[in-house]
Amino acid sequence: MLDAKIPSGNLDDKWVDYKGHCKLVNPANKRKMEVIIVGTGLAGASAAAAMGELGYKVKAFCFQDSPRRAHSIAAQGGINAAKNYQNDGDSVFRLFYDTIKGGDYRAREANVHRLAEVSANIIDQCVAQGVPFAREYGGLLSNRSFGGTQVQRTFYAAGQTGQQLLIGAYQALERQVALGNVTMHARHEMLDIVKIDGKAKGIIARNLITGELEKHFGHAVLICSGGYGNVYYLSTNAMGSNVTAAWKAHKQGAYFANPCFTQIHPTCIPVSGDHQSKLTLMSESLRNDGRIWVPKNVGETRKANDIPEAERDYFLERRYPAFGNLVPRDVASRAAKERCDAGFGVGTSKQAVYLDYAAAILRYGKIEVSKQGLSNVAEDQIIAMGKEVVKEKYGNLFEMYAKITGENPYEVPMRIYPAVHYTMGGLWVDYELQTTVPGLFALGEANFSDHGANRLGASALMQGLADGYFVAPYTVGNNLADEIYNAAIPTTHPAFEEAAKKVADRIASLKNINGKQSAESFHKRLGKIIWNECGMSRNAAGLKKAIADVQALKNEFWSDLRIPGEINEYNPELDKANRVADFIELGELMCVDALAREESCGGHFREEYQTPEGEALRDDENFMYVAAWENKGEHEWQLHKEALKYEVIKPSQRNYK
Ligand SMILES: Cc1cc2nc3c(=O)[nH]c(=O)nc-3n(C[C@H](O)[C@H](O)[C@H](O)COP(=O)(O)OP(=O)(O)OC[C@H]3O[C@@H](n4cnc5c(N)ncnc54)[C@H](O)[C@@H]3O)c2cc1C
Repeated sequence: MLDAKIPSGNLDDKWVDYKGHCKLVNPANKRKMEVIIVGTGLAGASAAAAMGELGYKVKAFCFQDSPRRAHSIAAQGGINAAKNYQNDGDSVFRLFYDTIKGGDYRAREANVHRLAEVSANIIDQCVAQGVPFAREYGGLLSNRSFGGTQVQRTFYAAGQTGQQLLIGAYQALERQVALGNVTMHARHEMLDIVKIDGKAKGIIARNLITGELEKHFGHAVLICSGGYGNVYYLSTNAMGSNVTAAWKAHKQGAYFANPCFTQIHPTCIPVSGDHQSKLTLMSESLRNDGRIWVPKNVGETRKANDIPEAERDYFLERRYPAFGNLVPRDVASRAAKERCDAGFGVGTSKQAVYLDYAAAILRYGKIEVSKQGLSNVAEDQIIAMGKEVVKEKYGNLFEMYAKITGENPYEVPMRIYPAVHYTMGGLWVDYELQTTVPGLFALGEANFSDHGANRLGASALMQGLADGYFVAPYTVGNNLADEIYNAAIPTTHPAFEEAAKKVADRIASLKNINGKQSAESFHKRLGKIIWNECGMSRNAAGLKKAIADVQALKNEFWSDLRIPGEINEYNPELDKANRVADFIELGELMCVDALAREESCGGHFREEYQTPEGEALRDDENFMYVAAWENKGEHEWQLHKEALKYEVIKPSQRNYK
């Protein structure tokens, strides 16, 4: 069994006690300690800014041309915090409880409680940085609801919350760059970890402009490289998001936890054809006011607005009256799929359901009429006033939908369908966010830590910033305190030379395959296999087939890949090939993990294990653990289990009815 090093004591006191007793590094020593941070999205930028501010010598890396372009910038809907500004019954405990329940009792209590505790600090920190969160008329920060909760605790900046938070973290990071505490290496891709005496002591990074390999030393290495949803090829993730940094760490001994736990988001613009390379999210915030429905008749041909109210099935409100349209993502996604599979889908593909704003527009219009003290207002005018309110709240999302689909969502319901969005799995970390490789930490979406088998909306930004601003500065410091006796190791050390040679050899072997097929074509085929067999629902036969198919794809990749261009130059095809090679290996592990977990929980739905109503059926007796996989060589992994102990919350069948 794996030891997560959870501090003893009451749940409420663990983090406070930890902070009070962890080892510290004095300012003079901090200046000698070098910390490598791979990734400058919300998790990495906040960690780099915080560690730089503390006085450590930070080297930060990202593959984009600026930290400002990290995938985090795409986050739309909001960030949770237990501030209870609405006085609607929220508390640290309730955020903790909702997150544990939302994750279908597959997350670690101590980490989730810590996350809920620091959530309020994040908002204060970001407001101090100038993040323009939405405010009420009177100036107080505004909130809305996200799935799986009955309170309003989501802070937001229109539909651009990630962008605004990232600007905040970026400016904090740039301040440290200007002070000389952080050195920023943009357009650099980490391609391996360097280990000395079993500890992470540096990285090999490729300069993506020149192709040159560089060696960098660090007393600690933090992987903040984001999630791996692009293993499915089509996802809502940024096109560049990939698993390479986490996978290299895995190959160097870091266990990979719960790789099959993928989040499928219910409200995305449906796939429109075979030439598509990206899917677009319509933020979960839209479920605050939008109503989801399908026609009651199979094979309905009328346009949405021509279908009378009595012939519409608001299936989430019908099945889950207590949470209605705001059930968690896994539940909403499966319910939409069930309706489409049963023949009630809409649009040309019949693989879509409606997200309808007509009722909300009317409701908001009436509120405006009342607020302005008007009487005898025509319905047209009420609707026009309602549209203005909706525009204020969700305008950029509506505009995005209109641009992509050519339809006006103020006039006709949007068509949506579930799509891959987030990965709850990632590098296994203990309470200190340290992987199984000493000195190697993982933060943000790159780790598996806090969301169990299903992440609640608006909690990824919370976790990334909690890890970076508030957790890692303590936990990494606690470990660096033992490193003060160790001087920086020159990168001429044989371990660096060997690691660089290994990376160079791999790049050469990829380039020298000289086959006929592009990396993109392999990626697309991989995505289809994983989506079909390890996507929204899985079964043993399909997973076994997928494992064989991925292995065959891997052989084909390594014998027929073609990379145009040269190694020592700007070569995005080479970058892509490197990443696809890692995605293929990860794809196999995801299926291995999904096959081994003979239960359904959260986003992991095994068709063999469901309740009579079609809900996920957990097997707590046999599977209440984190599955952490150790790489043992080609196609081989060993399973290590971290038992999950629920001391405060009693696991039960999730119920949103
Ligand atoms: C469309 C969309 C909307 C979302 N909306 C919300 C929301 O409203 N609320 C919410 O809580 N969550 C939301 N999420 C989820 C959330 O955005 C992500 O989980 C979060 O931003 C991840 O942050 P991160 O810092 O861990 O990783 P990222 O932002 O993905 O950053 C990864 C960083 O790692 C770098 N990197 C990666 N590999 C390497 C390498 N090998 N070498 C060097 N650098 C590397 C990248 O350059 C980048 O800087 C949304 C997700 C999507 C897809």
